[in-house]
Amino acid sequence: MISVNIKKGLGLNISGKPSHKVEVLEKPTRVALLPERIPFVKPRLKVKIGDQVKVGTPIFEDKRNPDMIFLSPGGGEIIQINFGPRRVIREVVVALDHDEAYEELPIFSETQVDSIERKELVRVLMAVGLWPFFRELPFRDVADPDFTPPAIIVNLDATEPFLPVPEVYLKGYIDLFELGLKILRKLSQIVFISTSADNAFVLQQLSGSVTHTYKGDYPANDPGVLLYHIKKTPDTNRTWYINGQDVLLLARLLKTGRYPVERTVALGGNLVNNKTHLLTRAGVPLNHIARDRAEISDAARYIVGGIFRGYIGNKDSYIGFYETSLTLISEGAEKEFFGFARPGFKKPSRSRAFLSFFNKSPMPMDCNFHGEERACINCGYCAEVCPVDILPQFTYKSILTDEIEEALAHGLLDCVECGLCTYVCPTKIELCEVLKNTKKLYYLEQV
Ligand code: SF4
Ligand code: SF4
Repeated sequence: MISVNIKKGLGLNISGKPSHKVEVLEKPTRVALLPERIPFVKPRLKVKIGDQVKVGTPIFEDKRNPDMIFLSPGGGEIIQINFGPRRVIREVVVALDHDEAYEELPIFSETQVDSIERKELVRVLMAVGLWPFFRELPFRDVADPDFTPPAIIVNLDATEPFLPVPEVYLKGYIDLFELGLKILRKLSQIVFISTSADNAFVLQQLSGSVTHTYKGDYPANDPGVLLYHIKKTPDTNRTWYINGQDVLLLARLLKTGRYPVERTVALGGNLVNNKTHLLTRAGVPLNHIARDRAEISDAARYIVGGIFRGYIGNKDSYIGFYETSLTLISEGAEKEFFGFARPGFKKPSRSRAFLSFFNKSPMPMDCNFHGEERACINCGYCAEVCPVDILPQFTYKSILTDEIEEALAHGLLDCVECGLCTYVCPTKIELCEVLKNTKKLYYLEQV
């Protein structure tokens, strides 16, 4: 087992963390698939309003590769297909039948998994809609099925405070997880499984499988951060990764022959009264998750998929294909006179100008900027926390002046899009957003 010491990053002192309890959420009346939230995919619909679908019926394919299909997370009738600006397909909504029908998908025994050819396994995983759970670094697009990656990293932990933790989603499913790992080992000879050196549960339960332990703060668990710290040559840049919870989905499907819709979702944030993990299903409505558990008002911000990397959800929308958390925090829209100069004891900040720098107990987070965007003051906070040693302020300036080669030389492609630089920047510059968008445009130009 290799230990990796990640010195940069940030210990997050934010209150509202979900407990390790698990509640079973009652069945919703509808679920949805959200093509808009799957990066880079160009969806072509295979259904229309009024169609009857089963759990596992193809809903859309990726125009870039029609074998890449995305399946229905529910059985029932397609009742809405919602479009955004420029006809972007936002949501395909299924009203669930009381007794949902399932598409019959292939079942594999453990011995069959051992003997199946890699090419055939790739074909099966594409046909059963699970391929998109494999993502390729550094751009985080769905993995290229025609490529054999140098390694696959399994991302087990959640160092962001509000994502599901392995102690919860793996409990009782260790055998299933091991079966999932067998599938990964067919796809790449090298499978890295990393966990925090302090995660006693994982180290005890998966002692034979864990290959790396890390010490470090957010985002030390990120597969891109691990790769940055262990890679020896640029050949490994196209390493794939998959989340721990999704490894269970692979195994579930091959065991049951049913498209797996079970998800463990973490519900947290200051506006949530009952911060917990919920056993629910893919594509569940956000309001169904929050109902009776949170103070729902117009002053609540719904964040889907983590407070640093997630996106703002509409309360009438649904959880995305990759997301497994909902966080509700206050908009914090109230104006504060000279707020930026107040020595707040409860305003999370990296700056010593705030007394909160010395406050080590968890502090509430809201969406207020507590100040306005100003010019960079070269404080260097962004570089101090960046886990992959990019100098975010200089990379950002290179991008603004169209010096893309210079931004690449700074390590733009190593950026893991963790959002920390933006979080600590005292002058409110959207560094992460700019770097992330530039990476995306660069990738789209390359392909
Ligand atoms: S530059 Fe990228 S990796 Fe570095 S802190 Fe910012 S978002 Fe994270
Ligand atoms: S944290 Fe903000 S102000 Fe400080 S150096 Fe980075 S970009 Fe400039």
